[in-house]
Amino acid sequence: MNMELSRRQFLKTAGAGVAATTLGAMGFGAIEEAYASTIKPFRLVNTTEVRNTCTYCSVACGILIFSKGNLAKGEKADITHIEGDSDHPTNRGTLCPKGAALLDIVKSATRLKEPMIRRAGSDKFEKISWNEALDKIARAMKTDRDANFIAKNQDGVTVNRWLTTGFLAASATTNETAFATYKVVRSTGILAFDNQARV
Ligand code: SF4
Repeated sequence: MNMELSRRQFLKTAGAGVAATTLGAMGFGAIEEAYASTIKPFRLVNTTEVRNTCTYCSVACGILIFSKGNLAKGEKADITHIEGDSDHPTNRGTLCPKGAALLDIVKSATRLKEPMIRRAGSDKFEKISWNEALDKIARAMKTDRDANFIAKNQDGVTVNRWLTTGFLAASATTNETAFATYKVVRSTGILAFDNQARV
């Protein structure tokens, strides 16, 4: 049989073999068989592997995402496994507990996938489109800034402050995106500006 094993698959299979052989040498023949049957050495076979960045914090660890489902055949991709990228210079394959739980986040039933709004007087959130959400945010910011922008302080010194609105940005963006976000937010006069890194 002509069979190609990736480095990852080879290590996984070899590891299972060594463990089972060790048990056998100690006289646990049946256990060896039972143990070997629980190993899934080809878990990553027929998956599509893509590189990405952990979304949780500004350490920005490299991750590998494995999915099943042939998009060319109209199938939906389904992520089956996520692990640290051993070739990434930041984390060298390691992940903290938050990063190690990324698959649970992807699959979580409570994961937020579209903008939600709780309208005035309502006790529940409802979905709205991205266009509606962005229009509402822009309108609210403009109204608040027009009403509360401080161009000069009591001594007549130009300060250009806008203190009544804050901005929470994402930490897992590229340097370029972070640079553009910073410039846009600061140009409005907002001082309360942060991101979710390490929270
Ligand atoms: S949350 Fe953990 S795995 Fe994710 S980028 Fe930060 S340190 Fe890395």
